[in-house]
Amino acid sequence: APRKLAAGNWKMNGTLAALDQLDGMAAAAEDASCDVLICPPALLIHPMIARVGAGDLLIGGQDCHAAAQGAHTGDIAAAQLRDAGATHVILGHSERRADHGETDALVRAKAQAAHQAGLVAVICLGETEAQRDAGATLDVIATQLAGSVPDGATAANTVIAYEPVWAIGTGRTPTTDQIAEVHALLRDRLTARLEDGADVALLYGGSVKPTNAAEIFAIAHVNGALVGGASLKAADFVPIITALD
Ligand code: 13P
Repeated sequence: APRKLAAGNWKMNGTLAALDQLDGMAAAAEDASCDVLICPPALLIHPMIARVGAGDLLIGGQDCHAAAQGAHTGDIAAAQLRDAGATHVILGHSERRADHGETDALVRAKAQAAHQAGLVAVICLGETEAQRDAGATLDVIATQLAGSVPDGATAANTVIAYEPVWAIGTGRTPTTDQIAEVHALLRDRLTARLEDGADVALLYGGSVKPTNAAEIFAIAHVNGALVGGASLKAADFVPIITALD
């Protein structure tokens, strides 16, 4: 069975003062049997690990370059994330696809680099509102999945996060049936393509909060969440961890 994962994406939020939020999250991670991951801005990875290093709270990056190293000003290599103590890296988030023109092919190359460096790639997919209105959701998701997941993917090195773009930061969430439909498609395609595709963890992301987490975690093939805003404060994220566990 897939391992359950409560993941927080801090996006471009947080300074050293935000480390105070970690103590409660780390305590919840110790108590929980599910995995708990925080992906802060890269500058905070080192101080976070210095603060909670030896415990169960996992730390990850939000992006990496597709190349192993070299002349890529401003970018971060997967091996550098690993060296800092990260275990995971979010790739292909819709904000990176929109802000930086990331394509499925680039996301796949980055995931390959992450795997090479020993990181778990958390690969994000999701339709826009216009695509959903046009009835194209399942086609969009299937295309993104096929194009963004590299051949070396396994349940041990890959997590898939379904994040409808229109549900991110909006307070709007899909219906239970809408999430179930996409997660069933993801499970089918992964099982057909990968030997252990049945064990790849599938996360839902987009306006997950303490008040809707339990309902979302009850949906078939939802193995956790990728949480934005509600992962910034222990008071919000800890109840989400508890709901998953
Ligand atoms: P919110 O939880 O703030 O909607 O963000 C979701 C997200 O994009 C996580 O990667």
